[in-house]
Amino acid sequence: MLPDRSGNPLAACPRCGHADAILSVPAAYHSARATEWAGHVARDDDASISRRHAARMAVNAALPVVPARELAVAPGNDEVVGYGCLGIVLGGVAIIMIVVYGATSSGSGAWLLLVVGFVTGLVCLLSLLQIPAAVARRQLVKAGRPAATAVWQLGWYCCRCAIVYFQIGEAPPGVAPGQPLTPAQFQHIVWTVGGYAKTPPPPAFGAGRR
Ligand SMILES: [Zn+2]
Repeated sequence: MLPDRSGNPLAACPRCGHADAILSVPAAYHSARATEWAGHVARDDDASISRRHAARMAVNAALPVVPARELAVAPGNDEVVGYGCLGIVLGGVAIIMIVVYGATSSGSGAWLLLVVGFVTGLVCLLSLLQIPAAVARRQLVKAGRPAATAVWQLGWYCCRCAIVYFQIGEAPPGVAPGQPLTPAQFQHIVWTVGGYAKTPPPPAFGAGRR
């Protein structure tokens, strides 16, 4: 039986009763990230044969863990960059369409250029209008992340059952020690502690199954 952070024996998975396939949530998350990256390399035709072979071996040897995003301590912070890039690209397309329309306004298909320019310009504007909200959300996540991480790193993931649970004395308020949680439930608890959960609580463990 593995010891916990205090040297005490770890409680086994509350679902299967075993403790030989449990990982701390941070370890499970990083394992999933590493496996996903290895899978990417294994499919990369530009990678050398030996590198792809090593990546395939890493994927085959990896413990079964849900996708890393399902155990992430916080949402990705690439929304601002995404909206900015989309706005720039569409803005460029809109300008090109309007310039071309100006140069060929007497052509039979000129109206199509104008419509495309208008639509891409409108989507560009809508994308740029999303940036302030994305910036505010990024700041919200940054502020709440330390508190969320404190709860996140106390979770334990069972690779057999794909559930998360807390050890006795480490469960946050509202969660019973040893209560099996789906990754979605666990993530919602963590994100709620961080103050950036946007969705309602997911169904309890076992709801809809059996
Ligand atoms: Zn289990």
